[in-house]
Amino acid sequence: TYVVTENCIKCKYTDCVKVCPVDCFYEGPNFLVIHPDECIDCDACVPACPAKAIYRDTDVPTHLMHFLGLNEELSRLW
Ligand code: SF4
Repeated sequence: TYVVTENCIKCKYTDCVKVCPVDCFYEGPNFLVIHPDECIDCDACVPACPAKAIYRDTDVPTHLMHFLGLNEELSRLW
């Protein structure tokens, strides 16, 4: 799955949502999150994100690892 991180906070672009073929972005409190069960790992959102906020779950930098749980938790609220 892919994960939205720190740089998305308060970002106003929604290019990622537009390119996602399965519509798996959801609104968190002040950033978007990806539903881990719905993401099909297509990679379309990474180059589309002007904030460079999205990583494949296996490539998330250490200091952003807590976003793995946040994406999972917050996307499941919907
Ligand atoms: Fe959507 Fe593809 Fe990004 Fe997953 S990798 S969130 S399916 S655009």
